[in-house]
Amino acid sequence: MSSKPEGQLSASPDGGQRATSRWRVIGVVILLASPLLWLSVDDSVQVFARDNVNGSVHTVLEVCEVVIASMIFALGWHSVNRKMPRNIIILSGAFLAIALLDLCQLLTLPIGPIASRSGTQAELIYFGIASRAVGAAALLTVAFLPHTKFISARLRYVAFILPVSIVILAAWIALYRTDILTFTLADQSLPLPVLTGIQYAVVAGCSAAALVMLRRGWAHKDQKVGYLVIAATAMALSEAFFLQFSPANDLPGLAGHIYELVAYGCVYYWLFLQVVRAPYERLHRSERFRLRQLTHDTMTGLPKRSLIVQKLRHAIAQTGRSNTKLAIFFLDIDFFKKVNATFGHSVGDQVIRLFVVRMASALSSDDTLARQEGDEFIILQSKIPHRHQAALLAESLLHRLREPFHIQGHEIFLSASIGITMFPEDDTTEHGLLHKAHMAMNSVKKDARNSYRFHTRDMENSLRERALIESSLRQALANNELLLHYQPKVDFRTGTIVGVEALLRWHHPVLGQVPPSRFIPIAEENGCISAIGMWVLKEACAQMLSWQIQGLPRLRISVNLSARQFQQAGLAALVSDVLKETGLDPALLELEITESTVMHDTEAAISALASLKKLGVMLSIDDFGTGYSSLSYLKRFPIDVLKIDRSFVSDVTHDFNDAAITKAIIALAHGLDLSVLAEGVETLEQALFLKANGCNEMQGFYFSEPVMPQKLADMVRSMPMPSMQNRAT
Ligand code: C2E
Ligand code: MG
Ligand code: MG
Repeated sequence: MSSKPEGQLSASPDGGQRATSRWRVIGVVILLASPLLWLSVDDSVQVFARDNVNGSVHTVLEVCEVVIASMIFALGWHSVNRKMPRNIIILSGAFLAIALLDLCQLLTLPIGPIASRSGTQAELIYFGIASRAVGAAALLTVAFLPHTKFISARLRYVAFILPVSIVILAAWIALYRTDILTFTLADQSLPLPVLTGIQYAVVAGCSAAALVMLRRGWAHKDQKVGYLVIAATAMALSEAFFLQFSPANDLPGLAGHIYELVAYGCVYYWLFLQVVRAPYERLHRSERFRLRQLTHDTMTGLPKRSLIVQKLRHAIAQTGRSNTKLAIFFLDIDFFKKVNATFGHSVGDQVIRLFVVRMASALSSDDTLARQEGDEFIILQSKIPHRHQAALLAESLLHRLREPFHIQGHEIFLSASIGITMFPEDDTTEHGLLHKAHMAMNSVKKDARNSYRFHTRDMENSLRERALIESSLRQALANNELLLHYQPKVDFRTGTIVGVEALLRWHHPVLGQVPPSRFIPIAEENGCISAIGMWVLKEACAQMLSWQIQGLPRLRISVNLSARQFQQAGLAALVSDVLKETGLDPALLELEITESTVMHDTEAAISALASLKKLGVMLSIDDFGTGYSSLSYLKRFPIDVLKIDRSFVSDVTHDFNDAAITKAIIALAHGLDLSVLAEGVETLEQALFLKANGCNEMQGFYFSEPVMPQKLADMVRSMPMPSMQNRAT
C-alpha cells in the first residue's frame, strides 16, 4: 500500500547516523594533526630551505584567506533579519577583522606595496598573529556562549565598527608607531617570548574551543558544530605549525597557511549551513508539511480525494498501456453516525483510525487507500488481471471490518457498504469511475448494506429515474397526479369490513404508476412528505365523511404517517386542525406509524403518541416485527393495534419460524391488551391459521386489493361479506 496510517508512517530518528558523524569529526581531527606529529618526529623533513617554496604560493594562500574571511563576514552580515543568533554575528565581525588584518599582512609581504621598511618582517608577523588571535578569541567565545541566544539585528553595526576600528588602530601602530612593535625579528632569530606566548595562547584557545564544541555538539546532538570543531582544530594546528617556523625552513609556515585556509573554509561552511541551508530546509519542510496537509488527511494520514484523483489519473494511464485492470472501491461505514452519537466523537475518531488500519492490512503494495471524507474511503486496486480479484478484496475487507472494535472498554460492531467500478469497462475517466463507484455504494446502502456491489448500467437508470421522480414530485400535488386507494380491513369474527387503509398512488406522466415504496422515501428526503402527508390526511378524512354521507356504516379510516411526519413538531395540532376542518369523528381516524419510526427515539415517540392519543384517534404500529422493538417501551406506548408485517404472514403456513413469530406477536398484543391485525393475507390457509391463533383482523389481497373509493363503497354496501370458505371456493 502506498499510503499508510499516520502511526505507521513515522520513522524513528537515526541515532546511529549521529554517532557516525561524531566519529567522523574525530577522525578528521586526527588526520589533520598527523602531519604535525610527523613533522615533529621526522628529522628528514625538518630542513626545508626557504627557497624551496615559491614566495608567490604564500601570496596566493594569503589572498585566498582574505577572500574566504571576507566571504564569511559578508555571509553573516547579509543573513541578518530582525533577530539573529549571537554567535553568527560574533564570527562574522571577527572574520571582518581577520580579513582586514590578513589584507594588511598581504600588503606587508616582501613583494607587497608596503613591504617592511626595516626588512625584519615585524609587521608581517604582527598582522598575522593579530589575525589568528582574533580568530582564536572568536572561536573560544562561540564555544563558551550558549548557541541559542539571539540579539537584535541592529547590533550587527557593532560587529562592523568594532573590528574596523581595531584594525585601523593596529594598522596605525604598525605603520606609524613601529616603536611599539618590540618583537622584531632581530638578526633573524626567534620571536620574543611575548610573541611565542601569544602563539601558545592561540593554540591553547583553539584547542579548548574545539574540545568544548565537540562536547557541546555531542550533548546537543548538533551535527553541524563538527565543522567548527574542525575549524578550531585546524586553527590550533596552524598556529602550532607557525610556532615551528624558522627562516631556514618554510614548510611549517606553508602548512600553517594551508591549515588556516582549512579553518576558514570550515567556518564558512558552518555559517553557510546556519544561515542559508538550515533556513532553506526549514522552509522546505514547512512547505512540504503545508502541501501534505493540503493533500493528506490529518487524522489518518491518508491521501485526500484530490490526491487520489491525481493517482487515479496516473493509474488509468498506466493500466491503459498494460493488459491489466483497475478497480475503484468506494467504501462507507454503515450507521457510523450512530457510533458518534452513542459513544462520542473521540471514540468515533478512534474507530476511524482502527478501521483504516484494518483496511490497510487487507491491501497489497500496489493498492492505495484514501479518505474521501468522514466515514467514506476510496481504494484503488491496480494491476489486477480480472474483476474477480476486486471481489476477493471486497470480501476480505468486509470480513476484517466485521470483527468487533474494542475501544475504551466498548465493543463496537461495524460493517461497510462497498461500491466497485472497473477500468476500462465501466468508465475511462477518473471522475466517471469515482462517481460510478459512489453510485454502486449507494445502491448497496439502499437495500443490503454490509456487502459490496459492482457498478451496473441498471444503477444509472434507476438513478436517472430517481432524479426524475425527485424533480417531478414537487409538482405532483399541484398537477393532481396523486390519488388514494383504499384497502379494506376485515374482522375475523364477523367477516365484515371494519376499516380501510388509505394508500397513496401516483400516476407519473412519463413513468406511469410509481409505487409509494419508491417515491415516499424520496419525498421524505426532499421534505415534500409534509405537504403530501397533509393532503393524504385531509383527502382520507374527507372521503370517510363523504362515505358516511352516502350512508355507509362507520368505518375506521387508517392513514400512514412517515417517520419525518411523525417527528415533525406540532403534528398533533395539524391532525386536530384537519379533524376540525373535515368534521370527522376522531374515533374513526387511525394513524399508522411503523415500528422502526417509534423505536428510533422512544422517549420522544412516547410523548408524540400521547399528544396524538389525546385527540381521541386510534394508533397502530405498522410493519410490526421487522424493526428492533424494545418490549419495555412497547407497553408504554399509548397504542391500540399491532399490525403483523407481511413478511411473516406470507410464509406463516410453511415456515415454522414465521408461524412461531406470528403466534408470539398475537400473544404479545393480547397480553398488552392490544388488537392485532395481519397484513398481506393472500391465501385462505393464511387466513385460517391467523383466525385459529386469535388474530383479530386481516388485510390483504385474499380479501381485496387496495381499490378506488367507489369500488370500496360498493364492497361495503354488499355486506355482510361472504364467508371465507365461500370466497376460497
Ligand atoms: P403499508 O402501510 O404496510 O401498506 C401495506 C402495503 O402492502 C400496501 O402497499 C399494500 O398494497 C400492500 N399489500 C396489501 N395487501 C397485500 C397482499 O396481500 N400482498 C402483497 N404483496 N401486498 C399487499 P403499497 O400501497 O405499495 O404501499 C407500500 C407502503 O408505502 C405502505 O406500506 C406504506 O408504508 C407506504 N405508504 C403508502 N401510502 C402512504 C401514505 O399515504 N403515506 C405514507 N407516509 N406512506 C404510505
Ligand atoms: Mg400501513
Ligand atoms: Mg405495513
